[in-house]
Amino acid sequence: MITREQIHELAQFEDQGACALSFYFQPSAPRNKAHKEEAILTKDLAREALRQLESKSTTSKAKEKHESARADLDLIVRLSQDLRGNGAHAKAVFACSAQGFWREYDLPAQLSGTELLVNRHFHLKPLARLLGAFPGLGVVLVDRHRARLFDLRLGELNEREGFFHPLPRRGRSDGFAGYDAGHAERRVADEARQHFKLLAEVLKNALEKHIFEHWILGCQDTHWSQFEPQLHSEVAQKLLGRFSTEVAHVSLETIRSQAERIFADWQKKRCGEVVRETISQARSNGRGVTGLRRVLRSLEMGEVQTLLVGDNYIGQAVECTGCGHLDAHIVSLCPVCGKETREVVDVAEAILPWVIRHDIELFYVKDDPEFDKVGNIAALLRFRSEQNSNNVRSIADAVANQSLGRQAGLVGRYRGLASG
Ligand SMILES: [Zn+2]
Repeated sequence: MITREQIHELAQFEDQGACALSFYFQPSAPRNKAHKEEAILTKDLAREALRQLESKSTTSKAKEKHESARADLDLIVRLSQDLRGNGAHAKAVFACSAQGFWREYDLPAQLSGTELLVNRHFHLKPLARLLGAFPGLGVVLVDRHRARLFDLRLGELNEREGFFHPLPRRGRSDGFAGYDAGHAERRVADEARQHFKLLAEVLKNALEKHIFEHWILGCQDTHWSQFEPQLHSEVAQKLLGRFSTEVAHVSLETIRSQAERIFADWQKKRCGEVVRETISQARSNGRGVTGLRRVLRSLEMGEVQTLLVGDNYIGQAVECTGCGHLDAHIVSLCPVCGKETREVVDVAEAILPWVIRHDIELFYVKDDPEFDKVGNIAALLRFRSEQNSNNVRSIADAVANQSLGRQAGLVGRYRGLASG
């Protein structure tokens, strides 16, 4: 599976010759001939991508560059013939042989479909969608004297071995024939309490070190009543939900499906809450902005905590060829530095590298009429700068805004963002 560093690498990649190829392969449900159909679909997609490339290549230099994309497309078609249509994994390939770049990743088979795109940048929306709102989720299984920790990421569950060090079991001498039974019982209860206390401490440290951002607990109800009072309040706040399980013999598949169900419920609820909060904050000129123009500005000001984008949102903007500033007004000259601009076809895709690099929480909002009314793009802010809360901008404000924008970094500052 893919790591954060690898996603950052993809987010930064750019090919001026527009030969960066992104291939997402979603296996179809197992049935006869499915595998063959998948290979045919990829072939069709490759043919279409090639046709588009050729229509764009008017100069001989461009044609030469597109030869490399053609070679990548051939490799993808060949690869797709080897991909097994068993539904176990989806696959993503990012390639640009002009720059000697080729990366292959397995993904959970939850993509919306097979896609093949060739552009100046890699197509990251399917990845951003899979990553969900945040990457780090810990699943903790607990009983009276054991604990296990799992990482759940991109549909994959991995156990962290040796994360919890079990308490040394003191030598048991329970006396003869129950003589000392009462004492032994008290000692067992005391050991359990110590164990839960220690676990609570370990979890607090793990959250502080960002080993995970949120967690899910699997334990028996009787243990929960003993464990809960030991949790630090900030640890308790990060708990998304709980399921009932024993610790030693539960299958990975059971843990994964329980945890994913809890996470999906939580995410849906959280997304709804953030939408409501953002809209109400925006109405009162507080920590919320709506509409593409304001969202782009808040991104450049470094104010955005959570970004909300309509699931099918497509917005247009221009990108400055000089400083990388993105503007929702289709202007030919950059209002920040005066250089020429070029059109960005899908601004929601264009801001993803920035969003990924800055670890901004991201939700794709589905079927929400209220969100639709405010323009299908909005952001909840960590803070709201003075300039942003003024509806009327004086020239002095605009200048201050520019310098602030520079401090925080323009959205496309380190690379161009325009598609095509
Ligand atoms: Zn500029």
